[in-house]
Amino acid sequence: MQAAANVSPEEIARFGKLAARWWDPDGESRPLHDLNPVRASYVAARVDLRGARVADVGCGGGLLSEALARAGARVTGIDLGEKVIEIARLHLHESRLETPDLAIDYRVQSSAGLAAAEPEGFDAVCCMELVEHVPDPEALVKDLARMAKPGGVLVMSTLNRTPVAFGAAILGAEYLTRMLPRGTHHYAQFLKPSELGRLMRHAGLEVEDVSGLGYNPINRKAWLSRITAVNYLISARKPA
Ligand code: SAH
Repeated sequence: MQAAANVSPEEIARFGKLAARWWDPDGESRPLHDLNPVRASYVAARVDLRGARVADVGCGGGLLSEALARAGARVTGIDLGEKVIEIARLHLHESRLETPDLAIDYRVQSSAGLAAAEPEGFDAVCCMELVEHVPDPEALVKDLARMAKPGGVLVMSTLNRTPVAFGAAILGAEYLTRMLPRGTHHYAQFLKPSELGRLMRHAGLEVEDVSGLGYNPINRKAWLSRITAVNYLISARKPA
């Protein structure tokens, strides 16, 4: 079925194994926890989140989806991992005990599926740490572009294909510190900002910003930086 073609089942299974510990800030998703506030403010700086419709594609256990919903967005979080979506729903249920009006709809759905169901449906489309895990990044970016309303923004984050990123994300995180399970990342699938920017332009978007995402795993601080060599955020807009 075409709608579900752009996926590696091994990737879904790998993240599924982490699902139960997704919201443990000291578990394998620790870097995502540490980076999340910076990512959320980066999105908030580009779209007024109050009442905005936001798609979070490859949402995993829902770290970014919840942060955006807390800022007032109405979020649709999709992922092809059934286990991670189950965890996202459970956590939302807990969070709603304290904050009942969090508006998130989690679905097991592909990017192609959501793009076909709700073309031009979203003020902002977020896709964090997913593009390096899909077989066809170009098709993913086209789906994301299709979801955005005219004037809407697309924000992605991923790992750069540089020796420093190899050292930090693969050697450092997977082998030396074992913070992430081995095999989480495949260097050849990392994209340079210029390459991801080109995919965005080919999908009809205008690239507006590329920012580095600095991270110190020792003190767990994260910040926006001019250095894009390891992790970076890129934002683009669909012409109005
Ligand atoms: N975006 C989240 C999670 C990143 S982890 C965050 O940054 O906090 C990558 C996620 O992508 C996992 O939840 C995995 O299940 C999902 N994923 C991997 N391949 C996918 C695909 N082809 N389509 C949709 N989701 C996918």
